[in-house]
Formats: sequence, structure tokens, C-alpha cells
Amino acid sequence: MTLRIDILTLFPAFFDSPLRESLLGRAIREELVDVRVSDIRDHAHDRHRQVDDASFGGGPGMVMKPEPVVEAVESLGPGDRRVVLLSPSGRPFDQPLAESLAAGPWIVLVCGRYEGVDERVVPLLGAEEVSVGDVVLSGGEAAALTIVDAVVRLVPGVIGNEESLAVESFDRGLLDHPHYTRPRSYRGLEVPEVLLSGDHARIAAWRREAALEKTRRNRPDLLQPPDPREP
Ligand code: SAH
Repeated sequence: MTLRIDILTLFPAFFDSPLRESLLGRAIREELVDVRVSDIRDHAHDRHRQVDDASFGGGPGMVMKPEPVVEAVESLGPGDRRVVLLSPSGRPFDQPLAESLAAGPWIVLVCGRYEGVDERVVPLLGAEEVSVGDVVLSGGEAAALTIVDAVVRLVPGVIGNEESLAVESFDRGLLDHPHYTRPRSYRGLEVPEVLLSGDHARIAAWRREAALEKTRRNRPDLLQPPDPREP
């Protein structure tokens, strides 16, 4: 069954070129994945098509009203779907979550804007709140695109041999090893000699060590033993 992904946004045009280019564009054209973009504003109630309003309790900035968001999701019809609300307060997006979303059959990604979305949409839609990092974006669109990209490349048939899924960052709890290609010498920097040796055992050992070294330097947290106090 084809994985279906719906993106609900106030800015549908945001997705025009990302969904046409490269791997993602090809996967969609080849119908390996069914990606649809809908405009939350089509579900606004009043004739001004208002989708945001002031925050109860005060404070600056507008909040997305619940009705257009809830009704936009409901208008997709019933089905076995996971609703993901993009939010900086969500659980961190990571490779295991990408894999579980890629298992399908249907993902609905809801993009917030302004100060965010009325909190009631979370229980009403049974939504999972997901964050793509400890930063605040201006809207959920770039975050949704991150999820679409990470998920679609896991769909069987999307990635060929040339872009192998086999050994990568986060597999085995390590970052990927460094990669080199031609030329052998560039601006005085040489490709590590071992990679030219043809000795597969030595190459594998070098790559393991280099991956470990890079993980130590950039992501020491990945090497920490799990905290036994956490469930
Ligand atoms: N007031 C909020 C920020 C809202 S940003 C706060 O301080 O937490 C507006 C929208 O951008 C959010 O509704 C969400 O959909 C999206 N967004 C911003 N940062 C994000 C992140 N790190 N991950 C996922 N979505 C994010």
C-alpha cells in the first residue's frame, strides 16, 4: 500500500518546488508515495476567512483558531492515520520516529504559524506534537518538509544503490564516518591513504574509528550511557 502524507498549512505554495525536486519529486512522480497539500484557510468559518485570533490571557502575537485546523483534518475523511502537529514543544524528531512514520499507512502533518495553534487541537485530533530541534522556526512548514524528506527516503524503492541506506549516521548510535571522493589532493589536503589501499578490513577499521572520533567531537551525548533514572 502506498504511504499517504497530507500536509495542512496556511502557505501551500511553500511546498511547490521541494516536492518537485530530486529524490522527493521522483518518489511522488513514480507514485511510491502520495503527498497532498491542503490550505487550512479553506476551512475558515467567517467571510473574512480568519484563521488566527488574540491569545486568551493576553500577550503579544496571534494564535491559530482551533476550528479551521480540526475541520481541515476531518475533511480528509476517516482512516488509520497519525496526526503530527509540528511544535517546538513537541517530542524530538529522530530516526526511530521517522522509521515508525514511514511504516504508514497515513500521516497528517499540521503546520502552525504565529504563536502556535490553540492547544485544544491536540486532544481533539489525538495529535502527536513533534519538534525538529531546539530552535524556534517562524512556521511548521520547514519542519514538515524535514519530516516528509526523512520519511520518504525510507519508503522501499525510493533510494537506489547509489544512495544506500545501509551505513549512516544514527545507525548503531554513531554518526556516519567521513566520506571522500576525487581529487585525491585538494588545496594541500590529501584523502586518507588507507582509503586508497584497497584493504577492506583496514578501511572498515579506519571508518569505525573515524566515526567514533567524529561522534565524540560533535555529539558526545550519543556516547553517554542511558540514565538509569529515566523510564
Ligand atoms: N510560541 C511558540 C513558537 C511558535 S512558532 C513557542 O514559543 O513555543 C510557530 C510555529 O512554527 C509553531 O506552531 C510550529 O508549527 C512551528 N515550529 C517552530 N519551531 C518548530 C520546531 N522546532 N519544530 C517544529 N515546528 C516548529
